[in-house]
Amino acid sequence: VFQLSVPLNFLGSVYRELRQSLLDMETLFNLQKVNVTIKDDPSAQPLVLSKGGEIKFENVTFGYHPDRPILRNLCLTIPAGKKVAVVGPSGCGKSTLLRLLFRYYDAQSGRISIDGQDIKSVKLDSLRESIGVVPQDTPLFNDTIEHNIRYGNLSAPKDRVIAAAQRAHIHEIVQSFPDGYQTKVGERGLMISGGEKQRLAVSRLLLKDPPLLFFDEATSALDTHTEQALMANINSILREKARTSVFVAHRLRTIFDADLIIVLKEGAVAEMGTHRELIDRGGPYAELWSAQETLFNHEGEEVKEEIEE
Ligand code: ATP
Repeated sequence: VFQLSVPLNFLGSVYRELRQSLLDMETLFNLQKVNVTIKDDPSAQPLVLSKGGEIKFENVTFGYHPDRPILRNLCLTIPAGKKVAVVGPSGCGKSTLLRLLFRYYDAQSGRISIDGQDIKSVKLDSLRESIGVVPQDTPLFNDTIEHNIRYGNLSAPKDRVIAAAQRAHIHEIVQSFPDGYQTKVGERGLMISGGEKQRLAVSRLLLKDPPLLFFDEATSALDTHTEQALMANINSILREKARTSVFVAHRLRTIFDADLIIVLKEGAVAEMGTHRELIDRGGPYAELWSAQETLFNHEGEEVKEEIEE
């Protein structure tokens, strides 16, 4: 869970002050958990995505408190240009894995690399510029919808902001507001729903257009129909651009078509494979699927009325 521990009005004022500088969304996010120990190595080099963004965890052990490991000797490879899903019980370390990739924290032992470069040896700015995240809880700034989307790319022209909103299925809703893209949202503006917030976050990410994309329960607040339409758009963008993407999801129908599904249990890989392989294996994924299967068939289509958790 990417949690915001800083009040949104603080983020709002930080946003206004820093908007002119090229701080991006995630850097601002990072202010919530200032971790002064994470700094550039003096010999740090910019990250070079020479292989299209292959991510490797090699024997990674990490705990927020060293005596309580969350990830235990974790080994996994996220292939370049593929859609990868990370699933598993609540608290098994899915969001933690994304936080380590972003270097909110460093692992206690082991190595995390992107295209062969240890993320500790690359410039933090270049690492974070290469990654875009749709977190579980998206902060909105006390500003217009346009600025909230544009935060993904401050110099983007208006037509690209609109194109990103269209692909994130939020354009029509925005147009229905009396002030359209100039509608103020956030604490002192219009309060928008959780699902609308998620779609603004997706718009932001699509506008940023980073080589590595992470989605942490990014569509959890959407109804089935909107979620499927949005996922179809995201999938086609990922395929078209051959982007490396990682989806953390509880609802398996949003990820069953992933190139690789990694099932975590207590901070280690319990099993991995495609949906078919994992179903045939009859392990934890198959169990999880069958618990949700009454609702969805193997094509991810709804077969019964959805029961909201
Ligand atoms: P969920 O599916 O519920 O989002 P998750 O698999 O993403 O869970 P994480 O958010 O990675 O789980 O958390 C893994 C464990 O680490 C949990 O036990 C959680 O309580 C703990 N944890 C998470 N963030 C912190 C933190 N900042 N400090 C201490 N412990 C934390």
